[in-house]
Amino acid sequence: MNMTLDLTRYVAEVIESKKDTFISASDRIWEFAETRFDEVQSAEALIEVLETEGFRVEKGVAGLETGFIGSYRAGNGGPVIALLGEYDALADLSQEAGLSEYRPVQPRGNGHGCGHNLLGVGALAAAVAVKDYMAAHPETAGEVRFYGCPAEESGYGKTYLAREGYFKDVDAAFSWHPHAMNAVMHGSSNAVIHATFNFKGISAHAAAAPHLGRSALDAVELMNIGANYMREHMIDQARLHYAITNSGGFAPNVVQAEAEVTYLVRAPKTAQVRELFTRLVKVAEGAALMSGTQMEYRYEGACANLIPNSTLERVLHKHLSALGAPEYSAEEYAFAKAIYETLPESNKQEAAAMVGPKLAPLLAEHPLTGFIVPFSDDKEMFMGGSTDVADVSWNVPTAQCGATTMAFGTPLHAWQTVAQGKSSYAHKGMLLAAKAMAAAAIETLLEPELAKRAQAELRERLGGEAYDCLVPADVQPPKQGAGTLAV
Ligand SMILES: [Zn+2]
Repeated sequence: MNMTLDLTRYVAEVIESKKDTFISASDRIWEFAETRFDEVQSAEALIEVLETEGFRVEKGVAGLETGFIGSYRAGNGGPVIALLGEYDALADLSQEAGLSEYRPVQPRGNGHGCGHNLLGVGALAAAVAVKDYMAAHPETAGEVRFYGCPAEESGYGKTYLAREGYFKDVDAAFSWHPHAMNAVMHGSSNAVIHATFNFKGISAHAAAAPHLGRSALDAVELMNIGANYMREHMIDQARLHYAITNSGGFAPNVVQAEAEVTYLVRAPKTAQVRELFTRLVKVAEGAALMSGTQMEYRYEGACANLIPNSTLERVLHKHLSALGAPEYSAEEYAFAKAIYETLPESNKQEAAAMVGPKLAPLLAEHPLTGFIVPFSDDKEMFMGGSTDVADVSWNVPTAQCGATTMAFGTPLHAWQTVAQGKSSYAHKGMLLAAKAMAAAAIETLLEPELAKRAQAELRERLGGEAYDCLVPADVQPPKQGAGTLAV
């Protein structure tokens, strides 16, 4: 019997036999909808499954209150495989499940707009299946770990785990993301530094004694003007965006004593981000000099650019293809279609352009992709956004797939994603991703040469560059109650 098919069948059976546990955990995390660094109950739900399944759990890793690692070891030596899970929600995205119209459960409440309830449990299910395989095959030596990574959304939990060396002894890492396609991704993303600039001035009556005041709001405005001039002299793919998080108050007759602006600086390489950030700090210093104010800045977080790994991606794709896409019922297609009809025309057009003129009309009619996208690493896809999986990928060969959990064209960070987060087809996508990752992870455990080849590829892609974390060593992750930043 062919090993791929054997493994595929094994993981499919294990995961199907425990699917009620996984689906219930994902649905509970959807309900908790906890945002970055506050994922207490969500982490507990995942830890509960890990402990029941016999994993050893280490909590509060890398200074992350809601970060944890569940590990299971068999024998001595052998590869160490990581499954990466996320479980944070987004602010202001509350939405009733199973409804194809916008209706928040709680006005301005949180919601799983990026499907991380599914993401975390899918990776957890994969770790459980790998553990079951190891337990059933005592000759297998190695370790499987589930990394509970908090605050993917503007918190960059994995960056702290990577900085503190939690991936140093890992041989291969797998993850996935809820998506509208079943596909193994081959691409990169922008590195980012997120920092907030605080200006302190002197308050005064804006009409009676303006000469005594020094305006922090002026400083923020001057900084933004400087940054906007800086844009002209950046590389094309770099991105600079800001939000004024404190404008200094609502009274124009009071000179603003304090004001704050938060910035994201992105570019394809970490070195480029560092250089742009240094220039941005100079712009902030210039604004403080011009306005006679004091400036201080603090890091909110950062992450590197993603390094793809064809060696592991091919293995993941092989198993995803062997498993095949789920089948859907008429009710499932009907709900997906109802969601699709609510999407803005621009989203539909962008999705259509991605799949081409042959497939687009078919998917518009039946908006659940019931096939596996062929794998290609001929060219890297580039994502303008950022992901903290990147910091793992600098340290460990990392492969990720997407699995269909939402209607064709559904954008992330939208109420439609939340509405579909507990649907039966979202569960099917989560279980498919879990099976593909589990089979790929077991194959890596059984063939240590595979991890060695993947590591050689990683070294080649890095070209001698070492991982240099963008978050300075003295910056600690935020604690619970840090709040969300709308970025
Ligand atoms: Zn996400």
